[in-house]
Amino acid sequence: MTQTPDILRIRPDDYDPEDMPVERARRFIVERLEPVADTERLPILQSLDRVLAADVISPMNVPGHDNSAMDGYVLRHADLATSGATTLEVVGTAYAGKPFARDIGAGQCVRIMTGAPIPAACDCVVMQENVIAAGGRATVGPGHRVGQNIRRAGEDLAQGGTALAAGRLLRPSDLGLLASLGIGEVEVRRKLRVAIFSTGDELVPVGQPLGDGQVHDSNRYSLHGLLARLGCEVLDLGLVRDDPAALEAALREAASRADAVITSGGVSVGEADFTRQVMARLGTVLFWKIAMKPGRPLAYGEIGGAQFFGLPGNPVSVMVTFYQFVRDALLRLQGRSSEPLPTFVVRCVAPLKKAPGRTEFQRGVLHLEGGEWVVAPTGEQGSGILSSMSRANCFIVLEQARGRVDAGESVSVQPFDGII
Ligand code: AMP
Ligand code: MG
Repeated sequence: MTQTPDILRIRPDDYDPEDMPVERARRFIVERLEPVADTERLPILQSLDRVLAADVISPMNVPGHDNSAMDGYVLRHADLATSGATTLEVVGTAYAGKPFARDIGAGQCVRIMTGAPIPAACDCVVMQENVIAAGGRATVGPGHRVGQNIRRAGEDLAQGGTALAAGRLLRPSDLGLLASLGIGEVEVRRKLRVAIFSTGDELVPVGQPLGDGQVHDSNRYSLHGLLARLGCEVLDLGLVRDDPAALEAALREAASRADAVITSGGVSVGEADFTRQVMARLGTVLFWKIAMKPGRPLAYGEIGGAQFFGLPGNPVSVMVTFYQFVRDALLRLQGRSSEPLPTFVVRCVAPLKKAPGRTEFQRGVLHLEGGEWVVAPTGEQGSGILSSMSRANCFIVLEQARGRVDAGESVSVQPFDGII
């Protein structure tokens, strides 16, 4: 009997010890990228979900003056008896937006509304529920503190301080914050242009009937959704056949028009997988295999000035590699400050199959069980089963060295619903 040469030995699944660890690959991509340089100036109402290009320095204090946090009575704390009640003369009312001009003497107080400036010499607001008011007099009990119920000038935003830092994705609260500073326009980075296309002779566009063995092209649609959530301009170049010339033409066009090019399919070593060969002519490919499941192989490189991500063809692999690599890279290109996917440790309520050697991103459903957040797998975890991704609201991240998981063990989860 002849011995099987090493190269013909069947490996368990597609495990390869030389694969690039996920974290190293992620860092490698992000560290070599620079944000797009172009910026534009936008009215704040149009700046939601855009990336701030420069720090916003506060031109003023917010609030601009000490003011009352309550409806009540404003007084001089020194006038209050340390024990027992004190009765003060009410000499007027202070309203928001109207400074109270008169001086307040010993034994006097002013009725005050929320937001009204604190009159000079006063240092304490007593809420109206703690005051007995009758006949132009207010009776106040003991135990109040200097400064109570007073919002200090600049306590929200101090003049000269950094109100919002460059790299921030502008959120609804930020629009309000900018408005509170009287700032009507901001400088943001231009939107990223991302070109996408699918490769594969078996693929048929939506709207056309399927022939024998054909499948609808779904990857472009998932990618479209992911990119739209990230605020990118999507250039959809459609379907490209498994043909080196067609692939080369598509890659050239994509790279000439976009900051990043994302393709799916054709990056493994099958007979119809031409991406590697074409990329070697057009640009550089920096690595190919990642120690993860699903999602290997993955091509990452450059064509001209564009970043290239050749994602695997399987629909779940496309989404997992997007979340784990492409997302970080695009955030960096957008000039966004680094925002890793939030990761939590919860109990897994069912056993999980897993072999040591690769990081696995299984699909899970985070849910409440008896008041505790726990995770359950979505069932069949094949990389072609897109319904498992659709049912899931999180990844269950099983570390490279970890083996199978028993029900009740703790696992890391990354919720992805609503994150991009
Ligand atoms: P590949 O990486 O090209 O070998 O493709 C791996 C698997 O993913 C094959 O079963 C393909 O039919 C499938 N696939 C590739 N591209 C797409 C796509 N755009 N939409 C749906 N399935 C795809
Ligand atoms: Mg293919």
